[in-house]
Amino acid sequence: MSDRADAFDVDLFVIGGGSGGVRAARIAAGHGARVAIAEADRFGGTCVIRGCVPKKLLVYASRFADEFRDAAGYGWSIDSARFDWPTLIANKDREIARLERLYAEGLEKAGVRLYRQRAALAGPQAVRLADGSVIRAAHILVATGGVPRRDPNWAAHPRVLVSDDMFRLPKLPARLIVVGGGYIAVEFACLMHGLGVRTTLIHRGAELLRGFDRELATALRQAMQARGIEVLLGARPTHIDGRADRVSLRLDDGRVLDADYALMAIGRDPATHGLGLEDVGVVLEANGAIAVDAASRSSVPSIYAVGDVTDRVNLTPVAIREGQAFADSVFGKREARVDHALIPTAVFSTPELGCVGLTEAQALDEYAAIEIYRASFRPLKATLGGSAERTLLKLIVDADSQRVLGAHMLGPDAAEMAQLLGIALRMNARKADFDATMALHPTLAEEWVTLR
Ligand code: FAD
Ligand code: NDP
Repeated sequence: MSDRADAFDVDLFVIGGGSGGVRAARIAAGHGARVAIAEADRFGGTCVIRGCVPKKLLVYASRFADEFRDAAGYGWSIDSARFDWPTLIANKDREIARLERLYAEGLEKAGVRLYRQRAALAGPQAVRLADGSVIRAAHILVATGGVPRRDPNWAAHPRVLVSDDMFRLPKLPARLIVVGGGYIAVEFACLMHGLGVRTTLIHRGAELLRGFDRELATALRQAMQARGIEVLLGARPTHIDGRADRVSLRLDDGRVLDADYALMAIGRDPATHGLGLEDVGVVLEANGAIAVDAASRSSVPSIYAVGDVTDRVNLTPVAIREGQAFADSVFGKREARVDHALIPTAVFSTPELGCVGLTEAQALDEYAAIEIYRASFRPLKATLGGSAERTLLKLIVDADSQRVLGAHMLGPDAAEMAQLLGIALRMNARKADFDATMALHPTLAEEWVTLR
């Protein structure tokens, strides 16, 4: 490092030990930088501790119900399947603790100095830790993520929850109300219903999952309803009371709903509060997110930000890529930028929704003419299993170039398929490339190459 860098305690101070921060710290240290990282809660961040990973474990748990139901058609008799929530939570906690240890050990092995406390900016090149110490850093990376959105009208009610609380409920509720129509609301409504909870989902919009292909969002909502989840669209709670041992929601049409708990899944806010960003001149967006350029640099040249705190695309792999690109560019002398187009994504609902590329509405907006290819079928497994649920595949193609613009699926393993379809779309696959690919029979995925 240069003489100038010696005026600093570290070359990089990372605030936040989640997906983006951990990757950036490890990679920067690998490039030879002196790196420190502060984590106020647990290393691993939202994804590992209270997001993707524990959520997916709960989703797996919830899907055994389908397997038990379908097993009879295949000759199995399962006489007394019982579910025990405390066992699931204890096993999940053990796995999360293991992952948390691995994250911290990975950082230590890379030579990163760990601070297990809150940090804030003390200047454009200085960080103040909760214990009062100040660390001078040539570069600062803010990777503080986001927090569930709360409303002062219900934030202190013990029966009104946010997603963080769902992972530590002492007991499986009998009755749950979920408010919201995004990823978290839909995933939790499905997984809690799968575990046997009577579930009502209340959403203010006309359809769930804004931003996803309408046709698939509607098909998912109908499948959820057919499974027994009550879905109320165009509905808003006007009064929420969750102070006693039950929660009571009054809706704008006068209806009153009661449940053990209400889960408020109405979005997440960037975690920028109390960091002292404005005091050092870091420009924030209207919603509190840190404004950054394509290199993840803020309005203050020594301060960068990656992940949910920048509110670009709030997904773990994106935060990781942004952290990697930052570290490579600033410390590895390897200019790297993250391409935020064609990001595969999935809602881990049951049935699952996976997609990559444009929705039909977006394609109609951007292209002169498009072709749509669809398949709707009952998977082979359902013939003996008995489920009436249909799997839906939809391919959106530019009529002119024949390039595949979007691929959307509702059904088993849709997320796994969206990941691989992402490769095809990134390689500018044409419809003819899908058609020329030999089918692998019998699979669900073969339907992608037999769409006519
Ligand atoms: P985070 O992972 O949130 O890490 C930020 C860290 O900073 C936290 O550990 C926090 O404690 C720490 N911190 C905050 N302030 C300070 C401070 N002042 N000092 C020190 N430390 C601080 N994404 C997917 O791709 N797939 C999924 O299936 C998926 N499921 C999700 C399910 C749920 C319920 C939730 C809530 C999110 C899910 N996400 C999913 C989104 C994903 O978790 C985030 O996009 C990702 O974690 C963002 O990473 P990050 O590094 O930006 O922030
Ligand atoms: P989303 O932004 O996805 O959804 C928020 C939902 O709440 C929308 O349906 C929105 O409605 C509704 N809403 C917003 N404000 C209010 C309000 N005041 N009253 C009633 N409803 C309201 O946020 P989530 O919290 O579900 O998830 C946050 C992010 O985390 C996701 O966007 C995603 O990036 C990430 N995530 C990813 C997952 C995955 O990859 N599988 C899983 C979970 C989270 P409207 O549409 O009308 O605005």
